[in-house]
Amino acid sequence: MDAFGHFSLTWTKNTIVLADLQSTSTFVKTPLAGGIQRSCDVLFDVMSHSLAGSTGVGDHGRDGIMHFVQSHKCQTFCDGLGLEPLSEDDIEETALTNYEDYNEDVEDNPENEDYNGEEDYEEAEEE
Ligand SMILES: [Zn+2]
Repeated sequence: MDAFGHFSLTWTKNTIVLADLQSTSTFVKTPLAGGIQRSCDVLFDVMSHSLAGSTGVGDHGRDGIMHFVQSHKCQTFCDGLGLEPLSEDDIEETALTNYEDYNEDVEDNPENEDYNGEEDYEEAEEE
């Protein structure tokens, strides 16, 4: 299950990690499995950490991502998925780059102007 966390961090280019992964084994019948009943693990109570710290309760942001990187031990599943080993230095560098990109995206997005505009608050208080 920890390999899925590694995958999530790699797939999101070091911006989000799914952590504290717990699952229960069950059987499901799904079109994805050709309509055949298969055994699988269903995730529950998934936590996530993101550079933006925007994924909700329990998101410890960059610290949460770095904690995962420091505690994760790659397993055969990581190799099987073709995942490169995690490196704190690589994550730090990539995280900084992506975090800067995130800030630029927020600033460039006209829909986010209200979040930065304190004037709106002052006008509202005067009324
Ligand atoms: Zn791994």
